[in-house]
Amino acid sequence: MTTATPSDAPKHELTVVHHATCTFCGCVCDDIELHADHERIVETKRACILGEAWFKHHTAERLYPDALIDGQPASYDEAVEVAAEILYRAHMPLVYGLSNTTCEAQREAVWLAELVGGVIDSHTSL
Ligand code: SF4
Repeated sequence: MTTATPSDAPKHELTVVHHATCTFCGCVCDDIELHADHERIVETKRACILGEAWFKHHTAERLYPDALIDGQPASYDEAVEVAAEILYRAHMPLVYGLSNTTCEAQREAVWLAELVGGVIDSHTSL
């Protein structure tokens, strides 16, 4: 009987990305070297432990549909309509989160909060 060991496993090339940017904590380190085995990142050179965890738990796989309404897959346009209706009926909605979010998206979120008379907060208040 033979037993396969990791060194016996078939080898294939990893995709290497130089100078990747980590957007997890706000320091925005831009010198990360990522090694990916198809969609999964397996190595994160120069990332701190938080960045490593963040990168390794993100993949390029499509895990979810474009949108969900009441837990059911929906089109993007349907989801926007439902979201607009919820925000229109809400009394002081909270726009919350925004970590791992681009500056452009944060700007839009602030604009949306002002438009609907809501308030805005980020995860850092935790
Ligand atoms: S690598 Fe670490 S310090 Fe750099 S942005 Fe990511 S989480 Fe922040």
